[in-house]
Amino acid sequence: MPELPEVETVRRGLEQALKGAIIKKVTLRRRDLRIPFPADIAKKLEGRRIKSIRRRAKYLLFDFDSDDVLIAHLGMTGRFSVETKAPKRFSKHDHVVFELSDGRIALYNDARRFGLMTLCKASKIAEHELFVHLGPEPLEDSFSVKYLTSALAKRKAPIKTVLMDQEVVVGVGNIYASEALFLSGVDPRKPAAKAAGKAKQMVDSIHKVLGDALASGGSSLKDFLHVSGESGYFQHQFNVYGRNGKPCVSCSKPVEMIRQAGRSTFYCKHCQN
Ligand SMILES: [Zn+2]
Repeated sequence: MPELPEVETVRRGLEQALKGAIIKKVTLRRRDLRIPFPADIAKKLEGRRIKSIRRRAKYLLFDFDSDDVLIAHLGMTGRFSVETKAPKRFSKHDHVVFELSDGRIALYNDARRFGLMTLCKASKIAEHELFVHLGPEPLEDSFSVKYLTSALAKRKAPIKTVLMDQEVVVGVGNIYASEALFLSGVDPRKPAAKAAGKAKQMVDSIHKVLGDALASGGSSLKDFLHVSGESGYFQHQFNVYGRNGKPCVSCSKPVEMIRQAGRSTFYCKHCQN
């Protein structure tokens, strides 16, 4: 599943490719993804120029020279590709086709269809049900040591579960929560309030793991736009994630795997406490 760095990499690639483009025609090749497409989506987007592509949490927000914003989420398997011309035949999972006025085609493909595409008025984005409960962006100044310290106070749930709570901070998914807690030296099972003393280490570590992932994503940007039939998502080098039983990169003792809130957590019980 794409996490925040992958979505941000997709955003950068799409903005580079599509900023200024005019949508000539929108073809929906089915009625819905995770939720139905708005009935008027083609009517509202055809003829509009793409002004910018923003991101909030793992949602892509396409701004147009109109009052409408296209909200897109990649779900598990969603991907955009930009082609110089229409393919000879569409694949079964090409669900949305955007024909551009310059002849190019932007395709949205999603094999498992957990993605979504919907519309919202620009002025209503902050209060939209998808966004109203979201915490700060992890790479923006609002996600500060002071903020995290107070967000963790009184929370008894394990710190890893709390860091993955989108109301606390968005975009720290399962992989990055394990990695950031390893770098912070914090036991993922520790009650959040008791881990608050290491808020600075956790903020710095979250910046580092997401920043490193973004840096490696930047170099594979082309894959998102030109490769067909491959996931395009880049591989990361992880310190603990997926390394259960392998030696800890710091102390060489085996990395442990446990289940927390239904998700796998990887950590070193010697280095994290
Ligand atoms: Zn260790």
